[in-house]
This record gives sequence, structure tokens and C-alpha cells, in this order.
Amino acid sequence: MKILVTGGAGFIGSHLCDALVASGHSVLALDDFSTGRHENIAHLEGHALFSLVSADIGDEAIVRECVAAADRVFHLASAVGVRLIVEQPVRTIETIVHGTSIVMKACGRYRRPVLITSTSEVYGKATKVPFHEDDDLVIGPSTKRRWGYAVSKALDEFLAMAYWHHSRMPVTVVRLFNTVGPRQTGQYGMVLPRFVQQALRGEPLTVYGDGTQTRCFCHVKDVVLALVRLMDYPQARGQVFNIGNSEEVSIRRLAERVIELTGSESPIRMVPFEEAYGPDFEDMQRRVPDLSKIRQAIGYMPRYSLDDIIRDIVAYYSERIGRKVGGVEARAF
Ligand code: UDP
Repeated sequence: MKILVTGGAGFIGSHLCDALVASGHSVLALDDFSTGRHENIAHLEGHALFSLVSADIGDEAIVRECVAAADRVFHLASAVGVRLIVEQPVRTIETIVHGTSIVMKACGRYRRPVLITSTSEVYGKATKVPFHEDDDLVIGPSTKRRWGYAVSKALDEFLAMAYWHHSRMPVTVVRLFNTVGPRQTGQYGMVLPRFVQQALRGEPLTVYGDGTQTRCFCHVKDVVLALVRLMDYPQARGQVFNIGNSEEVSIRRLAERVIELTGSESPIRMVPFEEAYGPDFEDMQRRVPDLSKIRQAIGYMPRYSLDDIIRDIVAYYSERIGRKVGGVEARAF
């Protein structure tokens, strides 16, 4: 099959391209390299089953052409990372809402099955954990920039469901919970690549807030397998699925575990949210996925534990930073 992956040079997109090419599919990656990186797909360039279109998801003519050429579409192009979202709120909202609208319109026109990637962020400030797909979404006020991301992604979901109800367009929505792994950059705020790099360089690990907030981290390889399986599962159309891992950890404990597994002598530095993200920032205290729906649908079970994930990221960054785990010198990165 010929498969279009929007955001194909991004962290998750590039792993998805790898998996699809490895299964013998022909992959067309669309990316504008705003946050996607050539490094993520360098090993695929020149492969007979891989091609790349360097364009903005807002370029309607190009998106339409790419969708027309594909049998199926994975839509991953998006603004990413809490840091980028609070620093560039206009671009965040426009990329997400406008980009998805263009992709959906093209998929509707050519009736291409499409999978839309949403986020656990849409559960917002909900406190009843674990989060189930049918739960209410509890979003904060529009004066707090962070929520623009959740609302934009929620709007994408409503648009997808509207297409499904209007014309039975084959669309599936997934909510990704803190996807992590090799190739993820800490540049846009994501905690695990930041902690691992800080530990490997002997710098303080920056725990925001009081560190009691929790998250559940899922290896990108588990996520990619779930994306591929859901696309192959016709009953998933018109449905929303959580994808994640239910192993919950506090951010303080995560920092300690990274230090233990790297053998680093880095201290932990507590950083107020205000210092990290400015005065109008709100964080969520707990975020845990209910995975019963996806388990029932495709037998999904995450294979990687938190320790496996940390080790994989450590291996990835140790190579780049030029220092082996347990070594002494860390070269600047
Ligand atoms: N975080 C942290 N130190 C960092 C970056 C993030 O303590 O250097 C915290 C962040 O405030 C949040 C958690 O780690 O409570 C997860 O952050 P991330 O941005 O990775 O994901 P999200 O907030 O979207 O769950």
C-alpha cells in the first residue's frame, strides 16, 4: 500500500515511517521541518519505498495531491511540546486546526481512511483517573495559553467525528499519552529527553513545580504498533482510542530514576512553574490512560516498562553526547 504520513520527519512520525517501510509499504512523508528533523529520516532517504515532500500542512494543493496519491493517511503533523505551545500560541492553534481541516477535507474528497492523532491533553484538568475515552473534557480558561493546544486538538476530534457522522468517512482518532523514546528532543519542553541529557551532562535535573505531579510514559514503538493495528481494524472507524502505558510515576521519582540508571552525580533542582513557563501556566496533577477500549479492540498491551524506556533514551543520548553511561566526561551537545 501507499501510505501518507504527515509529520513524517517528526519524532513519532519517523518511527511510524520506519515500521511501515519495514512491513513493505510505500511511504510518503510530508513535513515542513519546523520541528521535524532530517536526522530522523536520514536512514530512509534513498530507500525505494520512501519518499519525502517538504511542505507545510497548510499548503492545501500539496496536501490534496499527497492524499490523492495515497491509499491511507496517518495525520501526525502538529505543533508539539508545552514550551513551544506557550511561546507560539497563534502558530500552535493555526497549525493544528487549519492543518487538520485541510487533511480531512482531502481525505473526504478521495475517501481515504485517515487516522488523526490527538492528545491526552484534551482531558485537561479532569481529576477522575484513569481517563476513559467517553469522559468529559475539562479545559481551563482561554486566558491561559496552554489550553489552546487542548482545545485545538479537541476541535480536530470534533471535526473528525463530524465527518464520520456526516458521510461515514473512515476516520479514527487516537489520544496519545506522553509518548517518549529515541529521537525525541527536549527542546520543546518534554521532560524525559531533558532529564536524560541533564543527567548525562552532569547538570541539575530541573523538576518543575513540587514534582508530585504524575505522568505515564509510553515507548514510541508501542505507540507505532498501536497506530498501525488500529488503521487495519475497520471497527475502529468513527471511534476515539487512548494509546499509552498505565505505569504511573511522579516527576520527582522520574528524575531520581534517571539519575539511578545513568549513574549520574547530577543534583535535582526544583523550578517553580512560573520560572519555567511564565505566570499564567497551569499543569495537571495526574494523567493516567484507561486502556481497556484499545485492549479489547486490538489486544493492545504496552511491551516496554519505564526502565526499558529510560535505558533506550539513555543509549540514544549517550552516543550523541559522547559520554557512555557511568563515564565521567560529558562533551557539550
Ligand atoms: N517537567 C519538568 N521538568 C522539565 C520539563 C517538564 O519537571 O524539564 C514536567 C512538566 O511540568 C510536567 C511533566 O514534567 O509536569 C511532563 O512534562 P512534558 O512537557 O514532558 O509533558 P506534558 O506536560 O505534556 O505531560
